[in-house]
Amino acid sequence: MTVDPLPPHLRVAIVGGGPGGLSTAIALSKVPNVDVTIYEQASMLKEAGAGISIGQNTWNVLELLGVADTLTSGHVTSTVLNLNGKTGEVLHRVERTKSENRPNIRTQRTKLQSALLSHVRPGIIQLSKRLLRVIDKVSNGVELQFQDGTVVTADLVIGADGIRSVVRDIAWPGYEIKFTGTTIWRALLPWDDVKDLDPRFGTTAWWHLPTTHVYLSPVGESLGEIAARSWQDPATHSASKVSWGVPVTKAHVEAHFTVGNTNLPVKAAVCLPLTMRQDYLPAVREVLSKVHEGDWREFAAFAGPELSELTAWNNKIVLVGDSSHALSGAFGSGAGFAMEDGWILAQTLAYFRNDLSRALPLFNDIRVPYYSRMYGHLQKEAARREAKLREMGDVSEDDRVRMKVIKDGGSDMSWIYGNNIAEVWRTALEDIKGSSKVHMELAALNSI
Ligand SMILES: Cc1cc2nc3c(=O)[nH]c(=O)nc-3n(C[C@H](O)[C@H](O)[C@H](O)COP(=O)(O)OP(=O)(O)OC[C@H]3O[C@@H](n4cnc5c(N)ncnc54)[C@H](O)[C@@H]3O)c2cc1C
Repeated sequence: MTVDPLPPHLRVAIVGGGPGGLSTAIALSKVPNVDVTIYEQASMLKEAGAGISIGQNTWNVLELLGVADTLTSGHVTSTVLNLNGKTGEVLHRVERTKSENRPNIRTQRTKLQSALLSHVRPGIIQLSKRLLRVIDKVSNGVELQFQDGTVVTADLVIGADGIRSVVRDIAWPGYEIKFTGTTIWRALLPWDDVKDLDPRFGTTAWWHLPTTHVYLSPVGESLGEIAARSWQDPATHSASKVSWGVPVTKAHVEAHFTVGNTNLPVKAAVCLPLTMRQDYLPAVREVLSKVHEGDWREFAAFAGPELSELTAWNNKIVLVGDSSHALSGAFGSGAGFAMEDGWILAQTLAYFRNDLSRALPLFNDIRVPYYSRMYGHLQKEAARREAKLREMGDVSEDDRVRMKVIKDGGSDMSWIYGNNIAEVWRTALEDIKGSSKVHMELAALNSI
């Protein structure tokens, strides 16, 4: 019997220890002869932000990573409401069937992170490693230079460093992200403090006004989440919105959601037309006021254009997660996308036995069209909304709110929320090899 020799040894540096970096490391740890190190800038791994939704697409990839059973905490989002924030009118209701193997949940970000972390091979994460530069060493991989003065070389650098990616900035010079106009303030709080203020606070719900909304949801373990969004004209507000997860005061946040508040900042007052300055229901405002001083974090949403390739420098650099598609959380499933990227990347490397020149183009072929479809969808949605607004002319505030929520004819989003990445991989293999051989190939890959 002949034993296959090991594939060539591959030194892989993952920059970033978010959902993308951690899941990529888990998936790569099953690929023979790959040495993985994660370099994370933070001195300890802690998630900024409050809650996160885990839908079917995300569960699918968590299953493949072997992590799904570790994620046990969360609020089952069997009902999701969209309401008028001023009148309380229910504008849209989703009731999910119970047939799914794992129900959709809203959980704490830290729960997802610790579930992933518990499956990462011990000793491969290096903290306090802020990447400053990558340099193409041509025949000897890529050099990574860190803020602490250390330097390492890798055959493959995986940029899992988020929407403000340093890897992308260097390998895709000229790429730029811009403030979208949306700012999100997020916090967790004990849900027992607020859940009785309105019977609907036990349900995941968006409370809308024309240019703002307040998302309220239990996240399990007696905690709940508030994610309050406000839109401001990016032309006048981009300069100050450069950071992520910035602590802000209660007064700062509440001012954006309370017309009568005498602290309403000038910038909020000038950017909202008078007709749009409405008040939220008292119960919604009371929830906002219950957040403890010091607990609010501000996230300014940035977005950047579509990339035509997610690989660079002759297949020595690849982007996964938010760095690869700067969509600013547009579909509320970015952690799922990041994990799908990581899993697919590992399959391509295993399949081509660590041959970067063949694996990375296949990764591109699978993921670029998927992200392209997302960009296309958002463009179409924006055009539809603008046309509708023009057509409606002068409309009441309530109609504007209704329009925000109710989309003509809706659109089938199962290509995102029902995405099964294992099926995607199977189809890709069928495309490149012809279906008769695929079952054998997949059987051989089962251990990966
Ligand atoms: C308001 C909001 C709500 C969202 N809700 C959901 C949701 O419900 N469900 C969902 O699936 N997704 C959601 N998302 C999207 C999700 O948060 C992201 O898509 C996901 O975190 C992307 O993971 P990532 O690993 O690519 O990047 P990140 O999570 O941003 O992780 C990047 C990591 O890289 C590190 N890093 C950055 N620069 C460097 C450097 N120079 N050197 C070393 N390390 C570095 C960072 O410290 C960080 O740890 C939401 C996003 C937003 C903004």
